Amino acid sequence: MIPSPLVVRVDLNRIRANVSEIARACGVDVLGVVKADAYGLGAAHVAAAIAPLVAGFCVFALAEAVVANLKSLGKPTLVLGPPLGDAGAAIAADDYRAHQARPAVTSEAQAAALRSASPVVCVDTGMQRFACPIENVERVMRAGGCREAFTHATRIEQVEQLSNLLGGGRGIKLHAAGSALLENPRAMLDAVRPGLAMYRSAIRITSTLVEAHESRGPAGYSGFRALRHGVILGGYAHGVRTGAPCVVNGTRRRILEAGMQSSYVEIGGPNDRAGDEVVLLDGLELPPEELAAHADTSPHEVLVRLASTGRKVYAG
Ligand SMILES: *Cc1c(COP(=O)(O)O)cnc(C)c1O
Repeated sequence: MIPSPLVVRVDLNRIRANVSEIARACGVDVLGVVKADAYGLGAAHVAAAIAPLVAGFCVFALAEAVVANLKSLGKPTLVLGPPLGDAGAAIAADDYRAHQARPAVTSEAQAAALRSASPVVCVDTGMQRFACPIENVERVMRAGGCREAFTHATRIEQVEQLSNLLGGGRGIKLHAAGSALLENPRAMLDAVRPGLAMYRSAIRITSTLVEAHESRGPAGYSGFRALRHGVILGGYAHGVRTGAPCVVNGTRRRILEAGMQSSYVEIGGPNDRAGDEVVLLDGLELPPEELAAHADTSPHEVLVRLASTGRKVYAG
């Protein structure tokens, strides 16, 4: 991957404070979700920062735990996705064990094959992918000797489905809530799996104006019209979107047109110059939720697209 010119500042102290606050407010184990390279922020750095505060980590694929060397941090990893390698071939129990990882299983065959890796059952409460239909759960639990189960819930009814099925003093560890349900005390069960909520207010993504001048007639591919415009390095290949809000010298502006690797930026008068910083995302000033509303997508997508390719700079 060619690195992008965007700079991604990650405040690890802020992430630690968020995790502590989540743990305090929820009163149960926190399984920190560091999938997709910690939403583009760098899984190895983020996981090392939060390791003392969490009961474990979650990734989507075993390879992510291997690449980030999560086992060196002394906490177990739950692999949320299917127990398959890149080409769709089954992964052996020994491979999970070698990386202090546990697979999520959804069928009797998977559960039996991975029994020695302490599999966790992923129960389908509506997601309808990589999940075990409710009517098969008991059989899958038996096949894998499972003592833990989870569901991917976005609504409280899904959490209740899981706890009605497997709760009630059977000693099975249950978890369901990601960031969306952290405010609901009934969603806590035995653990929570926050991703986005850990990263809140901890990220600032910027680029720099490399040109700033008057516009002469219609400009760019789209022939946009402006009095003046700036240009940044970083385009849609790096998650920058046409029409997205941004901030230049404290004033709210927008991306006039995103190209593949550079973008036109709305600017004001001659006080906005080459060399000035353009804020593309900021936990406080320009949060992912606001950018997501503009792009008709999720804050997760906005964050991972802008952060993944950028040059990471860590504080704390
Ligand atoms: C991504 C994911 C989470 C975390 O979601 P956030 O909304 O970022 O908190 C939790 N559980 C599962 C199964 C996931 O895939």
